[in-house]
Amino acid sequence: MNGIDKSFAGVAALKGVDFELQGGEVHALLGANGAGKSTLMKILSGAYAGDNGTVEIDGQPLTISSPADAKKNGIHCVYQEVDTSLVQHLSVAENIMLDRLAASEGRAWISWSKLKQEAAQVLDKLGLGININSSVSELTLAEKQLVLIARLFAQDAKFVILDEPTAPLSIEEADRLFGLMEGLKAAGIGIVFISHRLPEVFRVSDRITVMRDGDVVMSELAGAITSADVIRAMLGKSFEEEYP
Ligand code: ADP
Ligand code: MG
Ligand code: MG
Repeated sequence: MNGIDKSFAGVAALKGVDFELQGGEVHALLGANGAGKSTLMKILSGAYAGDNGTVEIDGQPLTISSPADAKKNGIHCVYQEVDTSLVQHLSVAENIMLDRLAASEGRAWISWSKLKQEAAQVLDKLGLGININSSVSELTLAEKQLVLIARLFAQDAKFVILDEPTAPLSIEEADRLFGLMEGLKAAGIGIVFISHRLPEVFRVSDRITVMRDGDVVMSELAGAITSADVIRAMLGKSFEEEYP
């Protein structure tokens, strides 16, 4: 993404942002509330159009005019409101294969056993240990999130945006999510990971980008920086200046 601008009613939310996501990397996106993280990711996932700027995949310019458009190009976003993205009375397998089922239309009854087998394989491959026959309404919030990620894996996602996925999770549940992220990485999928929890950011990320007031102020390999560098970039000054 290059030179992305976006204003809301005269307020500049993004000011010429450049952002690059590699396949097979976890790329953390940090910044104080209002820095522009979600707006940038909504432009990438087709929820908003940018005012200016370009998006490219593998050097090819791309116009993303809707979430469906983004998905067609392998870009998926998991929002915190997981319930709105799942059909509660359907099974785990049906939810994972939802888009594929819709695409198969009249032939659904013929291919269903095959799709169900594929759903089981996806869960197996990702090591999720969730029963494909359970109703989604019986799952915990954390399990629902895992099912959503299994779904985008089943749809051959190339790029995945996780907007504060660990905020509602316990430490054990977050660990499970990180295991799953490892699986996605191994499959060559690039992940944008938005989180405010610095210890977990450093644990799982390859690269860390910090936004402040609508622009990128730092982008470094995680191994090359410390939490103090990140906090300084987020605040725009050091703790010592803030609290002399
Ligand atoms: P972050 O995700 O980093 O907390 P956001 O991208 O949500 O930041 O917001 C960036 C700026 O854009 C903020 O000033 C916010 O108030 C503003 N903003 C975001 N979405 C909207 C919207 N739909 N309408 C008006 N202003 C918005
Ligand atoms: Mg810029
Ligand atoms: Mg946000």
